[in-house]
Amino acid sequence: MSAAKSSWIRFSERFLSAIYPPTCALCGLDGTAAICEKCWEEIGSPVFEVQRHAQGDPLDFSVCLYHYGSRAGQAVRELKFHRKTSLAPMMAKELARAVDRLSLDDADFVAPVPLHWRRRAIRGFNQSELLCEALDAQKVRREAILIRHRHTKPQANLDYDDRMRNLSGAFTAFNCEGARVLLVDDVLTSGQTARECARTLKSAGAREVGGLFWCSSLNRVQS
Ligand SMILES: [Zn+2]
Repeated sequence: MSAAKSSWIRFSERFLSAIYPPTCALCGLDGTAAICEKCWEEIGSPVFEVQRHAQGDPLDFSVCLYHYGSRAGQAVRELKFHRKTSLAPMMAKELARAVDRLSLDDADFVAPVPLHWRRRAIRGFNQSELLCEALDAQKVRREAILIRHRHTKPQANLDYDDRMRNLSGAFTAFNCEGARVLLVDDVLTSGQTARECARTLKSAGAREVGGLFWCSSLNRVQS
């Protein structure tokens, strides 16, 4: 990049931030980080709880940092539905801390739960990929071991049987023979999406599949 162009970009950034000062993406406070100090305090410390699942469950373990009903759930909604991607780096750092504290870095691969290309095109990004940005880049496999090749309806609007039918065969996995895989997603709800991913990865030869989630709508995490 030429020096002139670089100066122009710096000038543009200063100009834009003068007109649109940074604001907290959760409460709208001006002149602050993407999440202001008060909102971080209300989000609180993550739980870092590892839950080992019963034998036969395709998902071997799961870790959820927060409860969806807390301010942490608001962060997911703002990120995903209002496209406030400025939130993602701070959320990603918290997930990276969980990986360190719980020694989850022994996974061979990190796989963000994939979106179908159509939903990704509409949203403009995959929030699960953004949440992997502070993790070991050498291990993160964006659609390199797991893809969603079939468009599915949003799980939230379906009953149990329809959820199972909706996801069945939606994913394809490859290049994961003998690997330990850490799935990353924003929310653990019924767990069916993560389990279908885990089942697909194991059918393709993965040895172990665990899940790391920013938050959970189940009752296992205290808000
Ligand atoms: Zn705030």
